[in-house]
Amino acid sequence: RVDVLSESQSLALDIGGSLAKIIYFQPDGANRRKERTDGIPKLCIDYLDPKREGSSISVRVPELNGTLHFFCFETRNIEDCIKFISEHYRQNGKEKRRVRATGGGSYKYDKLFSEVGVELTKLDEMCCTVAGLTFLLTHFDHEVFSFLYPDGTLPPPGLPESAPALAECRRFVDARPDPFPYLLVHIGSGVSIVKVTGHGKFERVSGSTIGGGTFWGLCRLLTNCKTFDEIIELTKEGNNERVDMLVGDIYGGDYSKVGLGAGVIASSFGKVTMRKEPPPTFSNLRKAWRRVVCGTFWLWCDFMLNIPILGHFLRYLGLEKHLRSRIANIHFGKIFRAEDVALSLLRMISYNIGQIGYLNAKRYDLPKIYFGGNFIRDHPYTIASISYAVHFWSHGQTQVSIEKEFDKAMNESSFRHCFY
Ligand code: ADP
Repeated sequence: RVDVLSESQSLALDIGGSLAKIIYFQPDGANRRKERTDGIPKLCIDYLDPKREGSSISVRVPELNGTLHFFCFETRNIEDCIKFISEHYRQNGKEKRRVRATGGGSYKYDKLFSEVGVELTKLDEMCCTVAGLTFLLTHFDHEVFSFLYPDGTLPPPGLPESAPALAECRRFVDARPDPFPYLLVHIGSGVSIVKVTGHGKFERVSGSTIGGGTFWGLCRLLTNCKTFDEIIELTKEGNNERVDMLVGDIYGGDYSKVGLGAGVIASSFGKVTMRKEPPPTFSNLRKAWRRVVCGTFWLWCDFMLNIPILGHFLRYLGLEKHLRSRIANIHFGKIFRAEDVALSLLRMISYNIGQIGYLNAKRYDLPKIYFGGNFIRDHPYTIASISYAVHFWSHGQTQVSIEKEFDKAMNESSFRHCFY
């Protein structure tokens, strides 16, 4: 109920296991933007990249007669988030500042906020997520979308050579007064699967420990990437077939008896086990030694990127992206490329979530699934992978309804899945 927010309550927080999200609402005419957005600390993630088409860190919403400003911090940097709020969210008088908050962090860090004079009004995160999605589904035409390639086809088992442009693949779903029942699959650090049957009527029916936190955690273990965005960029250049065991690797072609094409992944990361250890020849020893020397060089580059002046200079020369991808690949003795590992992980986790989402929709006989959470963000490969998994396990049921007539299918109760 944005319309009842008072000056002192126009700021809200969600502190999850991985990310702390801040949003504040600025009514039209209020000239407080400077005060609120100046001096954004370095650790604040500009997670709505202003350079990207159609998104910005501040979004004017005409329906609300105001502007929403978004900020995001990694929860491990919660002190910066608290400092940012205490410095930018001023209120007259000696009264404590009140901020609405959801997520486990609103309990865990309650004391830290209280020490800087900010009092958290806690709201249940599941309740808010369901209410938020229902609000989007019933009020806005351009927030929830299905994923379809521009030529009308669905994601194939192998991903295309280059990442699809999301703007071209989105098919927005029109708002409707009664979107129930539906299944919400929220992919944050973990996964929550919620059956929603009406306004405020929902039940968490399932979940999974294999979620966005697993992806990001394993990426940090297996590569030298420093940020989530870096890893997402890397996936665009990856080839998971170098790491995953495909049906074709086992059968030498299709397994047509059960309808599995040669390109279908039979075992994520399975190809790692197929690799023979190189014999201890002189040339292999030389290669290993070269990897150690190169690795040490890239480690120095990593060090230099972290020195402000040198970092700026390298960025100015346009070398940062190249260096980052080399640094991500530093692995003394490992032989798989970081970009391939990252894409394989992304697909493994997305497929798993798509599959359990579909199975739960079947289990409760729900015609629609909505996938959300920061794991998805606006990354086309993630969305394409989840879509592929749902189509694969529904044996093309969704494919038929989408290809025939998109809008008609959406309004009938055929089985559908969307993202928000
Ligand atoms: P939570 O509330 O549990 O933190 P979110 O919906 O915020 O859940 O999603 C967190 C997940 O989003 C992370 O585990 C990670 O996979 C992904 N993510 C997206 N952007 C970032 C980022 N900039 N830094 C870290 N993780 C990110």
